[in-house]
Amino acid sequence: MSESKKICIVLHRRDLRLGDNSAVVSAIESGRLLIPIFVWNRQESEACDAGSASCWWLHHSLLELGNQYAKQGGELFFFREPTQSVIERLIREHDVEAVYWNRRYEPDAIKQDSGLKKSLKDAGIEVHSFNGSLLREPWEVETKQGDPYQVFTPFWKNVLASIDPDKPLSAPEAISFEKVRIESCKLDDFNLLPKLDWADSFHEYWTPGEQGAHESLSNFIRNGIDDYKGERDFPAKSGTSRMSPHLHFGEISPRQICHAVQVHLNRKRKDNGQPGADTYLSEIGWREFGYHILYHFPHTTEKSLKPKFDDFPWDNNAKDLKKWQQGMTGYPIVDAGMRELWETGWMHNRVRMIVGSFLAKDLLQNWKSGAEWFWDTLVDADLANNTLGWQWVAGSGADASPYFRVFNPVLQGERYDPSGKYIRQWIPELSELPDKWIHKPWEAPKDVLKDAGISLGETYPEPLVDHQEAREAALAIYEKIK
Ligand SMILES: Cc1cc2nc3c(=O)[nH]c(=O)nc-3n(C[C@H](O)[C@H](O)[C@H](O)COP(=O)(O)OP(=O)(O)OC[C@H]3O[C@@H](n4cnc5c(N)ncnc54)[C@H](O)[C@@H]3O)c2cc1C
Repeated sequence: MSESKKICIVLHRRDLRLGDNSAVVSAIESGRLLIPIFVWNRQESEACDAGSASCWWLHHSLLELGNQYAKQGGELFFFREPTQSVIERLIREHDVEAVYWNRRYEPDAIKQDSGLKKSLKDAGIEVHSFNGSLLREPWEVETKQGDPYQVFTPFWKNVLASIDPDKPLSAPEAISFEKVRIESCKLDDFNLLPKLDWADSFHEYWTPGEQGAHESLSNFIRNGIDDYKGERDFPAKSGTSRMSPHLHFGEISPRQICHAVQVHLNRKRKDNGQPGADTYLSEIGWREFGYHILYHFPHTTEKSLKPKFDDFPWDNNAKDLKKWQQGMTGYPIVDAGMRELWETGWMHNRVRMIVGSFLAKDLLQNWKSGAEWFWDTLVDADLANNTLGWQWVAGSGADASPYFRVFNPVLQGERYDPSGKYIRQWIPELSELPDKWIHKPWEAPKDVLKDAGISLGETYPEPLVDHQEAREAALAIYEKIK
């Protein structure tokens, strides 16, 4: 036990960074010696933390954070017991006075954290919690009537008017650590990496960790943000920032992103913003909105925000669901998206909307089965944003796409992937098909298909449903429940 200085624990969860980390900075400023820890307890974690693809990310992100602590002369300690037992043991074995963490907002996480806070305080331990992942706390933003927002535009206006203009906190230059031996486990003991080789290709697309997050952001601000408004809807282009997994795991904070965008605008002397940057920041706003809705309406992970949708007679057809998951629906834009997801752990936002609409409205599958698949396969799986996104496509959520708006997968493909580049990238068996037919191979003349080496139903599936008929069937059901 340290003779001279008192000790504190920094409990990392989804704040896997040292820059702009209020919990870390406050712990250092308290003058105490730090014990940084990360706990992975299956029972606690399954409720709110990570599906399989996210576990891949988490492993590599923890490795990076551990390396950063090692560079400062310390160690990130890993534990598998329940968080409360770990902390109680550290308090017993070391002279721990205080615990620092950044807040989480998922219903199960709030329950866990409130229980932990109460029992630590009852035991006379200081607890300091901070906002590490949002621009504004969900309870700070309300309508004039004092209610939570359910519509994005006034919500975002309110947030923008009151964003903290402070610069993000710098990463600490020096950290003093508790140096006594601490009994912990190894990162590998968490068994986060998938057993199959499915995620092996992820490294080609991603660099988890704080440094990777900042490199991606700089690259996007240098090369993409000014054109973001015009380019963001085209899945074959690199028109978006791909910050979502970095944001989810807190390798970067939204405050750091907003600040970097502002620095870019100042450099270009665009004091009143510009369309690319404004649109980009409003997408960060949609993320905030997702957390606002999740916090105030926690039941939306299970039930529709608009209760009438709970009576929707979903057609729970396991075969159709499987074909959708495998990218074998016969609609190229849907299948390309689902295959991009499987290969990279990510899918372009426009295509997420198309595949979501197709599952909920063409195949009449409960949006929750889509949300569950995304949860397991996305590296950016995030309870707030995934719930918001799925309820949006199903028409049952906050500020949602109206149910009667059924995305037409052929028209969407022709509009947002006019040359079929995205389709050819993810569905090689269609690569020889001329542009005219690439989004509707079933309409192509037989000789064209033959020349392209395609035999529908054999090399590539026939469409699983007729979109026009499926649309009418969905609208007829909607008429009954609305
Ligand atoms: C059905 C469906 C499910 C989704 N599931 C998730 C999810 O699990 N995790 C997730 O992070 N996003 C989810 N989204 C939102 C969005 O698709 C992704 O955030 C975006 O594609 C990430 O790519 P990007 O970082 O390049 O985005 P950019 O376009 O570069 O946007 C920057 C950031 O803004 C936020 N953002 C952008 N669009 C949205 C949005 N529509 N809703 C909320 N936040 C947004 C993200 O944090 C994103 O990283 C979902 C959308 C839909 C339609």
